[in-house]
Amino acid sequence: MSVRAYDWIAHHARNAGDDSAAVDLHENRRLSYRELDRRVARLAAWLREAGVARGDRAAILAQNCTDYFELQFACQRLGAIFVPLNWRLTVPELRFIVGDAAPRVLIHDPEFAEAAHALAQSVQGLALLARGGAASDYERALASVEPLAAEACEPVTHDDVSTIMYTSGTTGHPKGAMITHGMTFWNVVNLGMPAEIGYNTVFLAVLPLFHTGGLNCYSNPVFHAGGQVIVQRAFEPGEALRMIADPALGLTHFFGVPAHFQFLLQHPDFDRTDLSQLRVAGVGGAPMPVPLLQAWQARGVPVIQGYGMTETSPSVLCLDRRDAVRKVGSAGKPVLHTETRIVDEQGRDVAPGEMGELWVRGPNVTPGYWNRPEANKASFTDGWLHTGDAARVDEEGYYYIVDRTKDMYISGGENVYPAEVESVLYQIPQLAEAAIIGVPDERWGEVGKAIVAVKPGQALTEEQILDHCRENLARFKLPRYVEFVEALPRTASGKVHKPTLRQSYGGK
Ligand code: ATP
Ligand code: MG
Repeated sequence: MSVRAYDWIAHHARNAGDDSAAVDLHENRRLSYRELDRRVARLAAWLREAGVARGDRAAILAQNCTDYFELQFACQRLGAIFVPLNWRLTVPELRFIVGDAAPRVLIHDPEFAEAAHALAQSVQGLALLARGGAASDYERALASVEPLAAEACEPVTHDDVSTIMYTSGTTGHPKGAMITHGMTFWNVVNLGMPAEIGYNTVFLAVLPLFHTGGLNCYSNPVFHAGGQVIVQRAFEPGEALRMIADPALGLTHFFGVPAHFQFLLQHPDFDRTDLSQLRVAGVGGAPMPVPLLQAWQARGVPVIQGYGMTETSPSVLCLDRRDAVRKVGSAGKPVLHTETRIVDEQGRDVAPGEMGELWVRGPNVTPGYWNRPEANKASFTDGWLHTGDAARVDEEGYYYIVDRTKDMYISGGENVYPAEVESVLYQIPQLAEAAIIGVPDERWGEVGKAIVAVKPGQALTEEQILDHCRENLARFKLPRYVEFVEALPRTASGKVHKPTLRQSYGGK
């Protein structure tokens, strides 16, 4: 028998209704658990009237705001499926995703009305609901119905799909991973414990809530614990630093991808910002350059590495905070209720120290991609998910994520993992951003090309960069070319978009 998925918001509304649940300073909204529960109940009632039934989808196209959480929990009450959309995508890209998920309702920010109307034309029976502000259709819709209390809803189980979460699209088209209630629950356990999340956690959510990073690191674990989530509409380093230091907010937790830590560190206010309220700062989602970790550690903040992916909801590896300094650069060990292996191309386990592909199994792993039978066949072996990431484990059992296997290139018969070279580049103080791609070469097959951005007001020559690499890297890893750019292209979750770089700079 499958386990029932309990309603966390209804629970906290009953037990600690006055506690603060969700805050959006931009929209001047502060919701207690009691208020959040009432709004979830009203939205569930409205969605039901709009025809959303068990298994149906309801989508949102908005910048970070507390309505994301309302829709997620309202869908649970109906047994419906929550589909958060990336607002940075173009209309044709969104059309692909919305056509794929076929939601009945789309809640959207007023600035995305044009896109929403274009989507409504291509998806039959899609009802639109504009959000934002007291006079919005969304608020009128909530006021027009009687709340649907959690107790009056048919239970959903851990096996039911709660969300279709699209991957970041770092390597190609985003794929809709089916996320079950059980997966989210096990992530709450797996990640919530090492991240020390409790009822007194105050978390600043800066990553987009349409990605697993923003939603599950750590928003959902915080709601499960009855803590508080403060959303930032979109990441802005100066404002984030002010919020981190603000005693009135009392922020205890932060989570970001490496780019967030880099942009915060580079901000002119960083050195004078009081970081002492922060108890936990987590990083994941992309390779974290070691010099960047060390710069944060020097400010007394042990940034804790984790590794995960949308398909694993997301936490897979986490570095214990006691090891943050000793094992700097490691993504840690497998979280409690998850298994991992590192395998060679034939699917055989490799020895410690050897590189292979990371495979993951556990109750936090997706049952598959929505409407993608081919991808489902290619991505699993006996319940093990192939991550597509190259990794190795040391003698003590600590994992190192080296890079995506797709980003690796071969130079003179030697595998080169760009993340390793990038980490060396980040040691150069004048450098703001760096990425390495492999480009074809007659003699070596492929050679590395560095694409770098220099910090404003700083000077850096190609020769200085190459000298630094020569001192720190084996010959076959040395980049052959250097291109200077203003900034690197990034995905919505702040990851460097290597397909764009390869297209622009001659990679394969
Ligand atoms: P897509 O699958 O659409 O190409 P994506 O893989 O970037 O996009 P996500 O699910 O958001 O989508 O990201 C998961 C990936 O992020 C992992 O497979 C891995 O490549 C990378 N990643 C996550 N954490 C780390 C980490 N600590 N170190 C290195 N890479 C990481
Ligand atoms: Mg991926």
